[in-house]
Amino acid sequence: MSDSTLPIKTLPIVERWDCTSCGQCCRGTEIPLDDDDLQQLRRQQWDRHPDYQGVQTVVRQGMLRRRYRLAQRDDGRCVFLTGEGRCRIHEEFGLAAKPLVCRVYPLQLVPLDDVALLTLRRSCPAAAADQGSELRTHRDTAVQAVRQRPQLAQAAPPPPIIGSVRRSWPDTRLVTDALERLLTDEQYPLVRRLAHGLRFCDVFAQCRIRKQDRPQLAELVTLLAEGVRQEVVDLFRERRAPGRAASVLFRQIVADYLRLHPRVSLRESWRERLRLAAAAVAFVRGQGPVPRWGDGFPETTFEALEERKLGHWGVELQQPLQRYFETMAVSLQYAVASRPGWPLIDNFRALAVAYPVALWMLRYACGEREPATEDVIEIITAIDRGQGYAPLIGRQHRRRISQLAALGELERLVIWHAR
Ligand code: SF4
Repeated sequence: MSDSTLPIKTLPIVERWDCTSCGQCCRGTEIPLDDDDLQQLRRQQWDRHPDYQGVQTVVRQGMLRRRYRLAQRDDGRCVFLTGEGRCRIHEEFGLAAKPLVCRVYPLQLVPLDDVALLTLRRSCPAAAADQGSELRTHRDTAVQAVRQRPQLAQAAPPPPIIGSVRRSWPDTRLVTDALERLLTDEQYPLVRRLAHGLRFCDVFAQCRIRKQDRPQLAELVTLLAEGVRQEVVDLFRERRAPGRAASVLFRQIVADYLRLHPRVSLRESWRERLRLAAAAVAFVRGQGPVPRWGDGFPETTFEALEERKLGHWGVELQQPLQRYFETMAVSLQYAVASRPGWPLIDNFRALAVAYPVALWMLRYACGEREPATEDVIEIITAIDRGQGYAPLIGRQHRRRISQLAALGELERLVIWHAR
């Protein structure tokens, strides 16, 4: 590897994965393409291939900044996925000819200042279930990817912490370390840890940190992190439903995530767009039947979903979801990779909101029956797919998150939906 690339390290918590060839990553997933991928695809001359005459293989995205992704069929399958569930690029040109993301998925490198942390994208069901070999056995795949694209493991600038206030990595790590401790605190259940983290963000966002030196910042962070445990006690005692404005914002976020649920398959057509527009209106109203998102969901109403408590939801079932949030915090994936450019505090809030979203989807997917492990894995893959999905990394989503924070409703949402 070049001198400028960072050493690659796995997390202090053991993650597991082996590919089970389920093909889920080739359905409903947007595969971004960089310049090297585009050149490689051009060299493969798919436009001259008899099976791809007139078929669009690459889609351009973004108005100002050009971004590209692999095209999908009408039903959301990758344009290169064959009827036998294999990759056409792989079949014709071999593994090395595939776009980089396809070759390394679900491995994820998170470059910091002195190390690139190797973790997993849990949009892969095997990774979400922690199934397979220890991640360190796949380290060579990451090393090879970095040899080809050194930028994957080059030191990254720290994200802004609050608004546009950017500090050095050591200062930023004071805050991420505090959030990591709150989110991995085994004394508390996950819902309580998330409420602690959100309360920390609320108070910290009001502090003027621009002129504080490191010792002052360290003292402030420690004080706040110690205080939040007491501050959320009343919220848990009350367990009040979120207000109307917060519920509308929340359901709009749910509607964006729901498109990423493995049981949903959306087709590229005007009819589908009209159906989605109607569904969006229904989600704003939040009354009556929940629009059908596919055959895999039972019929229900918004009111029933609001009132229903989760059935038996034991520690074992919650474990994969808890692991998702813990690894996000320890790997700093949420802060660096999930929504590039977002301030750290907003990124943590967006991560925390994924929890009530996941539980809303779990209620929706299960109907009257109790959740099973497969249901939990599905909701993890759905919320992880939100990373890199344009509606959930863009300005509108950030505005919704900020509005929920300004209303003081984020903790309430987390607590209410976990009941
Ligand atoms: S989703 Fe995961 S397990 Fe399934 S084919 Fe892709 S990498 Fe393999």
